[in-house]
Amino acid sequence: MTLSTIGIIGGGQLGRMLAMAAARLNFRTIILEPQADCPAAQVANRQIVAAYDDPQALDELAAACDVITYEFENVPVAAAAHLALSRPVYPPPKALDVAQDRLTEKRFLNDCGIETARFHAVDSQQALERALADFGGRGVLKTRRLGYDGKGQRVFRAHEDDPAGAFAAMGGVPLILESFVAFEREVSVIAARGTDGTVKAFDVAENVHRNGILHTSTLPARIGAATAGAAFGAAERLLAALDYVGVIGMEFFVMADGALIANEIAPRVHNSGHWTEAACVISQFEQHIRAVAGLPLGNPRRHSDCVMTNLIGDDMAELPQWLATPDVLVHLYGKTEARAGRKMGHVTRLLR
Ligand code: AMP
Repeated sequence: MTLSTIGIIGGGQLGRMLAMAAARLNFRTIILEPQADCPAAQVANRQIVAAYDDPQALDELAAACDVITYEFENVPVAAAAHLALSRPVYPPPKALDVAQDRLTEKRFLNDCGIETARFHAVDSQQALERALADFGGRGVLKTRRLGYDGKGQRVFRAHEDDPAGAFAAMGGVPLILESFVAFEREVSVIAARGTDGTVKAFDVAENVHRNGILHTSTLPARIGAATAGAAFGAAERLLAALDYVGVIGMEFFVMADGALIANEIAPRVHNSGHWTEAACVISQFEQHIRAVAGLPLGNPRRHSDCVMTNLIGDDMAELPQWLATPDVLVHLYGKTEARAGRKMGHVTRLLR
């Protein structure tokens, strides 16, 4: 029996956990990543060490794989589209196109009937000042592209912040100003769509961020059934509109009345879904592998309440305590250098 091979673009911890889930289902994995000995390649069958848009490397990857997926949303769309000429690429390159630009993303969500913060495209200092005036001097200014974990953002609080020079200070690149959302909590839903159009979603997680980086995800989220239903409904509409295959992460703000406002989508497995490997029989990683390989999706039922905590930079010093705590699944990413803000691993503690 020849084993099928899954190509994964990107060599970080998400690729690592996808490769581990793939191996358990008898798939081989090949990682495309410029950094040698990356977290994913440590557990995969093979690494192609090259840039994500290297034409020769892409052809080599396509030739060696049956299906190709990715672990980060900034895969060059042209590279994904090129691969899609010869192999199935899941999630579809269109999902990258939508997720890479906050303006396109918000418009697409709105077209799917999913509410977002109000927004204005900002391409100049004058446009910024007009947009801020429209939002009463408050708002969150973000780069349209390449922002993640709160990077490339500036918050304006009512009139106390002077916007002079802000456009240039953000690099003179295309920006978006979002209205400031006075949310009660942040939640996310991790959903999957199979090649046959079946959709299954994991329970909604409640997320706490520190310095713009996810700190904890707690299950269950403190939301009502109607809010959870609205999150699942939004995910279903979005997945259908993208003709999606694979796992997607959707982050929402929850308002005091339970209404949801979508913040962003990630066309990949997501940090706020890491808890699934401890509190569900089928993890988000296995679900993604099942989806892209055309296998039936697994049951996303959660068997335990839990808290997932990221180990970021110096948090690694807490490792001995975590290892000594009962009912904790520790997952480390094989990174040797614990730089500030760098995700080194995570732990999931089962509560009951
Ligand atoms: P993002 O990079 O868009 O996920 O933003 C990082 C974090 O900044 C979010 O998780 C929120 O805590 C906060 N944030 C982002 N956008 C807004 C907004 N429009 N209003 C209020 N808080 C926001």
